[in-house]
Amino acid sequence: MSNKISRRQFIQTAGAATAVGAIGTPFLAFGGTKKVVVVGGGTGGATAAKYVKLADPSIEVTLIEPNKHYYTCYMSNEVLGGERSMDSIKFGYDGLARRGIKVVHDLVTGIDAKGKKVTTKGGQSFAYDRCIVSPGIDFKWDTIEGYDATVAEKIPHAWKAGPQTVTLRKQLEAMADGGTVIIAPPPNPFRCPPGPYERASQIAHYLKHNKPKSKILILDPKPKFSKMGLFVQGWKDLYGYETDNSMIEWRGSAQGSNDNAVVKVDAGGKSVTTGFDETIKGDVINVIPAQKAGKIAFTAGLTNDSGWCPVDLLTFESTIHPGIHVIGDASIAKGMPKSGYAANSEAKVCAASVAALLAGHEPGTPAYTNTCYSIVGKDYGISVAAVYRLAEDKSKIIKIAGGLTPKDASAEARRREALYAHSWFNNITTDIFG
Ligand SMILES: Cc1cc2nc3c(=O)[nH]c(=O)nc-3n(C[C@H](O)[C@H](O)[C@H](O)COP(=O)(O)OP(=O)(O)OC[C@H]3O[C@@H](n4cnc5c(N)ncnc54)[C@H](O)[C@@H]3O)c2cc1C
Repeated sequence: MSNKISRRQFIQTAGAATAVGAIGTPFLAFGGTKKVVVVGGGTGGATAAKYVKLADPSIEVTLIEPNKHYYTCYMSNEVLGGERSMDSIKFGYDGLARRGIKVVHDLVTGIDAKGKKVTTKGGQSFAYDRCIVSPGIDFKWDTIEGYDATVAEKIPHAWKAGPQTVTLRKQLEAMADGGTVIIAPPPNPFRCPPGPYERASQIAHYLKHNKPKSKILILDPKPKFSKMGLFVQGWKDLYGYETDNSMIEWRGSAQGSNDNAVVKVDAGGKSVTTGFDETIKGDVINVIPAQKAGKIAFTAGLTNDSGWCPVDLLTFESTIHPGIHVIGDASIAKGMPKSGYAANSEAKVCAASVAALLAGHEPGTPAYTNTCYSIVGKDYGISVAAVYRLAEDKSKIIKIAGGLTPKDASAEARRREALYAHSWFNNITTDIFG
C-alpha cells in the first residue's frame, strides 16, 4: 500500500490525531489542587501549558519563561529575505494568562526531581505534581575553533530568532553587490533540518532582487540534507543552480568526513577554514553550530550521553527522572524531527497524558503530526507532511502516512504551497499563544 496521502486526507487525519492527543474528555482531579509547572514558554512549553489547562481546568498551571516576548524561528528566514518584519514573528503571553495560566517571567535554575520543586534565578520556588520542560536547544561551542557565544554576536548563528536575526539582516543589507555570503549548517541532529537551506533560498531571493552579482556558499558537514531534491529543483528554477551563473553553491562532505565543514572561524579576518584546510573569505558569515538540549536539561540531570533527553514516547516522561516530562527539540522523540510543529504535537500528547496521570487514569493512545513548509522564493513553497503513531514496543514513533510536494508540481501548486505555509504559520501561532 502506498503511504502517500492527499492533503485533504492528511488534514482529516491530523485533525483527528490532535483531538485524540490533545483535548479528549476533561479529567477531573479529586483531592487537593494539582500543580503543573512548565519550564520554557516557547513552542512546546506554551502549547503544553495551554493544553493541560484545556484538558483539566482544575489543574494549577504555571509557565516560567524569562522573556516577555517570543520570536518564532519559523518564518524568521523570511525576515532575512526582506519579506516580513520582526514584529510579525513576535508573540506575547496575554492569551495564555487570560486562560488562567500563571505566567512567570524568570529563568529556571534548578529542578529538584525528588522534592518536586522548581527554583528560579529570581529566588522563587514552585512546587509541582508534574513538571513539563521544553527549553529548546543550546550550542556546542567547543566544536568550531574561534567560534563562541561572544563571536556569535558579530558572526550570528541566528538559530534562536531575536536580536541575531536583526544583526544578520542588517549585515545582508550592508553588503555590497558582488559579495559572498557563507552559510555553515550544523551536523545532525539539529533544530529544523530544512532550515539552513530555506535560509539560503530566502537570502538568494533578497540578493537576486537587490544585489544580483552576489553569491551564497553553503559549507555543509553532511553529504545530503532534508528535502534536498525539492530544494535543488527550486534553486534551479529560481537561482540558476548548477549553471555558471548560479547564485548558490552547495559543498557537502562525505559521510564521516568534515571535508567541507567549517572547522575554524577568524572573526577579525572575516574568513572560515574548512576540513580541507581551505580558508575562504566571506562578506557575511552565518555559522550554525552543532546543538544539544537547552542548559536547564543538563542542570536538572535530564540528558544522556547524546546531549539530549531520553523520554517515554507515550507520555514524554523522562526515563531518568519520573515526574518530569521533556518535549520539543530537547527530547529524544525517536522518529520525529526537531521542528516547531513536532514540538506542538508532542506538547499536546504530553499535556493529555499529564492530565490523565494526575487524575489517576491511563494515558490514551497518542497520534503525532508534523508538516514542514519551506519557502524557496516568492510564490514558491515546498513541504513534507507526516502522521505518526507509537510503535507496538513503544521504542519509537513511526510514520504511518505522509507525503512530499511532487518534484514536477506546477507553478500554481508551488504558489499554493507558499500560501499554505503562511496560513500554517497563522494557525499554529494562534494555537500556541491564542
Ligand atoms: C531558522 C529556523 C526556521 C524554522 N522553521 C520552522 C518551520 O518552518 N516549521 C517548524 O515546524 N519548525 C521550524 N523551526 C524549528 C522550531 O523553531 C523549533 O523546533 C521549536 O521552536 C522547538 O520548540 P521548543 O519548545 O523545543 O523550543 P523553543 O521554541 O526554542 O522554546 C524554548 C523556550 O524555553 C525558554 N527557556 C530556555 N531555558 C529556560 C530556563 N532555564 N527557564 C525558563 N525558560 C527557559 C527559552 O527562552 C524559550 O522561550 C525553525 C527553526 C529555525 C532556527
